[in-house]
Amino acid sequence: MDNSSTNSEHPKSVEKLLPGFNCGICGYARCDEFAGALLKKWTQLEKCRFLYQEIFEDNRNALEEILKEEKIIPEEEKVVGLLDGYEADFILKPLPDESSCREVLYPFTRKELKEGDIIRYRPLGCPIIHFARILNEDNGLITVHLVGPCHRLGEDVEFDYLDIGVCMVGGFEGIIQGKLPAVGETIRFLPVHCMMQKVHSGVVVQLEGRRAIIEGIDLKVWAPPIKG
Ligand code: SF4
Repeated sequence: MDNSSTNSEHPKSVEKLLPGFNCGICGYARCDEFAGALLKKWTQLEKCRFLYQEIFEDNRNALEEILKEEKIIPEEEKVVGLLDGYEADFILKPLPDESSCREVLYPFTRKELKEGDIIRYRPLGCPIIHFARILNEDNGLITVHLVGPCHRLGEDVEFDYLDIGVCMVGGFEGIIQGKLPAVGETIRFLPVHCMMQKVHSGVVVQLEGRRAIIEGIDLKVWAPPIKG
């Protein structure tokens, strides 16, 4: 296996070494999306269980060599949403030891919701069904962590959930990777966990170092796409 490729060749090299099943088990819809996430160090090889089968052993070894390089994607590379090609100002990552950025939701349901409940909902403006665990409830607003669609939970996991229909996403909390904005600034950002890798917009309402709270979330981005 030739691992002497240059930085610009890495994304294709990594994609070619993946199984190509586009099954979504790794948490990304397609192998090329998983390849991009690997290169940005947002995920790990172990998430693709097929790579640990004997038939893919050579591919896994080659991938481990490529990914050993500390910085494969240049820091200054633009952050661009996969779905519509809009450029983001930064990436929003989870708080330390958390699995996704925190989301603050306005549920429309009249069901009683409490900390620890698992909910199934669709964010207003997003076609994807989400599953999340409630971290806290405050005057009707709930703060959640995403726990899936089903494939992210693992096939064997059974769970009870409350289906609460459409929710409005009011806010995000996480760690900024990229250029720091000012408080009050309207920004475009890419939440690491977004299953569509779609750029969101919002207003930064609180900043402590790189830890940010962003509110007024909108999935409509008013700017020409980079591509096309
Ligand atoms: S789990 Fe592996 S084969 Fe399936 S989409 Fe992810 S990278 Fe591709």
